[in-house]
Amino acid sequence: MLTNNLGYPRVGANRELKKACEQYWAGQITRQQLFVVAKHLREQHWRLQQDAGFDLIPCNDFSFYDQVLDMSLLLGVIPDRYAPVVTDVNGNAEIDLYFAMARGYQKDGLDIIAMEMTKWFDTNYHYIVPEFTAKQKFKIFSNKLFNDVSAAKGVLVKIPKPVLIGPVSYLLLGKEKQPGFHRISLIKQLVPVYIDILNKLNDDYLTEWVQMDEPFLCLDLTEEEKQAFTFAYTEIRNKCPHIKVLLATYFETLGDNTALAKNLPVCALHIDLVRAPQQLDDVLKDLPAKLTLSLGVVDGRNIWKNDYNKSLTHINKTIEKLGTGRVFIAPSCSLLHTPFDLEPETAIAPQVRNWMAFAKQKLKEIAHLKQIVEGNKDPLAENQKAIESRRISTLIHKMSVKDRVGAIKESDARRNSPFPARQTTQQKKFGLPLFPTTTIGSFPQTEEIRQLRARLKKGELTPQQYDTAIEKATIDVIRWQEEIGIDVLVHGEFERNDMVEYFGQQLDGFLFSKNGWVQSYGSRCVKPPVIYGDVSRPTDMTVRWSHFAQQQTKQLMKGMLTGPVTILQWSFVRDDQPRSMTANQIALAIRDEVVALEKAGIRVIQIDEPAIREGLPLRKKDWPAYLDWAVKAFRISASGVKDETQIHTHMCYSEFNDIIEHIAAMDADVITIETSRSQMELLEAFAGFKYPNEIGPGVYDIHSPRVPTTEEMEALLEKASLLLPARNLWVNPDCGLKTRKWPETKQALINMVQAAAALRKKIHQPQLS
Ligand code: GLN
Ligand code: ZN
Repeated sequence: MLTNNLGYPRVGANRELKKACEQYWAGQITRQQLFVVAKHLREQHWRLQQDAGFDLIPCNDFSFYDQVLDMSLLLGVIPDRYAPVVTDVNGNAEIDLYFAMARGYQKDGLDIIAMEMTKWFDTNYHYIVPEFTAKQKFKIFSNKLFNDVSAAKGVLVKIPKPVLIGPVSYLLLGKEKQPGFHRISLIKQLVPVYIDILNKLNDDYLTEWVQMDEPFLCLDLTEEEKQAFTFAYTEIRNKCPHIKVLLATYFETLGDNTALAKNLPVCALHIDLVRAPQQLDDVLKDLPAKLTLSLGVVDGRNIWKNDYNKSLTHINKTIEKLGTGRVFIAPSCSLLHTPFDLEPETAIAPQVRNWMAFAKQKLKEIAHLKQIVEGNKDPLAENQKAIESRRISTLIHKMSVKDRVGAIKESDARRNSPFPARQTTQQKKFGLPLFPTTTIGSFPQTEEIRQLRARLKKGELTPQQYDTAIEKATIDVIRWQEEIGIDVLVHGEFERNDMVEYFGQQLDGFLFSKNGWVQSYGSRCVKPPVIYGDVSRPTDMTVRWSHFAQQQTKQLMKGMLTGPVTILQWSFVRDDQPRSMTANQIALAIRDEVVALEKAGIRVIQIDEPAIREGLPLRKKDWPAYLDWAVKAFRISASGVKDETQIHTHMCYSEFNDIIEHIAAMDADVITIETSRSQMELLEAFAGFKYPNEIGPGVYDIHSPRVPTTEEMEALLEKASLLLPARNLWVNPDCGLKTRKWPETKQALINMVQAAAALRKKIHQPQLS
């Protein structure tokens, strides 16, 4: 029985790669220095896996930016617009072309935009989307893969296992840049290049195993896509007879693709038994003789200690059927999505830390499982002690929270009156003009503001001094909004570091690591909070600042909260209860905060849910169940207030078509959304559906420093008012202004207010009586 790792995080335990890349981009270190950092990291990670006793150790899982972009370079899928970068006389190397594709190229009088980036399945990792043309050519372009194999061979005793994204998933991850063809039709041109690569690996580097990641086998597939799988792997089998392909699937069950996957002519199949343990029986039934099964039993997506007994059930069941010779033990997916090392996290309470495992600890767990199967039962007792202590710990389990969730009634997820009645009440009470203006919450987080937090942390500022400085920034931004004539004000969110962390730090049941970074995209890493226990709200979280802000003005001041689904989605969550249960616990905590804000005189409250859409399951058939509990969690958080309190929500993405009825079911009085880049196209979904509640389609794209003109925004609004009733429309930017600079923000918002005013002159629609 072999141990098999699918991939290791690459940024380094102290984010060394992030720092080196950013220094290289800033011209502070040379290419050579960057490569030295990368070399050290790879060698260190290979040794770590070797020392942990791994049999199959991945290489080429390292990447300077993204593994999909690496594939594009390997296969020569380089959009034409980058041609000047390759031939540039300014001494560019392949890595500069690579970074240009990832980040754009604004140098030497050139201005070439970056390739698009999107989420890697249902993770928070983002990859660079390959761009295909109808006549796309493929050829081996980059040698990075081969160099990596050489380097790994220099360190490892056993033959390293290169990791590639398989040909079908690679195509499906991309996008057609021309009309008239589907990218899957490129499979016939693509597979021969894979064959060249595999044969070169075998001939020149004596490679035996190659891991081909095909996560799309866990998604809904068309007939053509299924045929592409059969075609690709049959060709590879026939033309690369000496390569052993390990087909890696993860993030979901194989489901209706089980038979397809089992019968592909490969040597081993990896399945995710953490996300989809139920698939094991189906996979084992009539498994073709000779096919080895790689069991993904250690969670590559979360930070909890493995329950060895649970894993051993799967392993033993498989061994019984296949014998030890056809079984690998592995993490569920690449460890890319977990932080590096738990050991230095000394600030986490030892009891709780004892329930956790980061990447380095997960390697050990897999080694332990092998030892146990081989007869050394020592590691088992200690593991089970930790698992049991977590199961019954009073640090986690709070009866009062569980009882409250158990007692949630249908009416808790419903406002007192239906929307039309609430709208009448609110419009009467608020007396807002047609096309009221507002913003999404945050104002520029300047270096000055960030410094305040850093100095408070270091003890250079007292909490009082810090508060006074934040108060001043808040007062300034309120005065300025009044001056330019915004209708519903915000306090600017200067006191917040991050929209999830700020709440997590104040809720019970959350903990924070010091160094638990995971890669989000390129050099950007995030440090998700850990939800370890039942969630409750010991005291008010935002009332102090919202109340302070409301006292400074006679105008409406909007309270600002992060919604339950977004808090859940951007955290490491418990694996001992359904996500929906955790969502309901958070929902009740947010509900209490909403009610507390109302009591403190806040009459407009926004509950941000930018992550609702990214929580959608990978398989369509699982969407209804998810949307059901996600929408309900939002409604629970929003429904504790009177009719006259106006609830807003905010989402920042623009694909609503397929979930519009669920967005409507959230029943927020006002929704603000990102639309400006799609030129209000998205509003058609809302119009077609006859979206009943009020809506603020963003008219100002906050993702760039560009200042939109009054006329532009007026035109967008006019378009919106043709699609939706004018009395339902709000005027606002696409998202928060936290990442923007002040000068452009000021000018853009002044223009925005003017656009609203201009439109009011044109369109007079009576308010509701
Ligand atoms: N209220 C948050 C802000 O304005 C919303 C951020 C978001 O949607 N991602 O920054
Ligand atoms: Zn947003």
